[in-house]
Amino acid sequence: MSITAKTKLLAVIGDPVGHSLSPIMHNGWIADHGLDAVYVALPLRSDDPESAMRALGQFGVKGLNVTVPHKEAAARVAGVAGAINVMCWSEEGALTGFNTDGLGFMHALSEAAPDWRMRVKRVLIVGAGGAGRGIAQALSPHVDTVHIVNRTFARAEEAVAGISNARALKWEDLERGFGAADLIVQATILGMEGHAAPDWPVGLCRAGAIVADIVYRPLETDLLCAARARGLLVIDGLGMLIHQGALAFELWFGIRPDIAKARERLLAALAP
Ligand code: NAP
Repeated sequence: MSITAKTKLLAVIGDPVGHSLSPIMHNGWIADHGLDAVYVALPLRSDDPESAMRALGQFGVKGLNVTVPHKEAAARVAGVAGAINVMCWSEEGALTGFNTDGLGFMHALSEAAPDWRMRVKRVLIVGAGGAGRGIAQALSPHVDTVHIVNRTFARAEEAVAGISNARALKWEDLERGFGAADLIVQATILGMEGHAAPDWPVGLCRAGAIVADIVYRPLETDLLCAARARGLLVIDGLGMLIHQGALAFELWFGIRPDIAKARERLLAALAP
């Protein structure tokens, strides 16, 4: 499909976005469905990201994915509480905002561990950033307890406020948290390329625990490698990336895209 004056524009905005796999994923789906649209990555480094997002809406952008560090600013622009990762403009220019991170993680979890509801009562989420919070909210109604451990304890306390079965843990309690959980979700930047991971206390995990890492560069993080060596079920970050993206695509185009095709394309893009 050639690009014309009618072609719809979509983008991921954040800082940095040069590493983002979202253009490959969404342009693949756009081609699958013969849509007249194009998806690009726009780095946004600004003291006033809200004005930039409003301007993109004025330019007639159809939809945005929003990533670190602008998810809270996006929520303010869309007039919703918390943090969002999807913005959607109607033909008339009306904006709606959504957060598909939590549900995207749930879909990835169900895909990788279809019996997780029988296995998981106690969850440990490492990280109280936008992603960790979204996952905590999505998991909370389906489990007994959600513990959130974060380097900055005050942020963990903020994250558990309003989630009745969630408790904040101090970083010193990481080992205790690992030992008690049936599902551990690593949702910080630790282990990402360029961000060394600590020596995660995987030796303390319960037999039968599920270990998920939402980092996807590299796909096999040190945490997943250690958990796999212990024989635990591991879930990498690609599933969440694809499922949160599929939910966004459906919000923009009303079409449910092909998950397996996206996985193939992204694995090819991630291959060394
Ligand atoms: P965020 O809101 O900026 O949160 C960053 C988190 O990392 C915070 O909990 C922060 O703790 C922690 N952190 C940063 N540096 C640390 C360090 N040196 N030691 C310990 N903790 C540290 O980011 P986010 O949106 O939640 O994203 C977090 C990670 O998830 C990123 O790697 C992102 O790429 C990944 N992610 C993946 C998907 C997916 O689809 N697979 C989706 C969203 C995000 P403090 O509060 O103490 O700073």
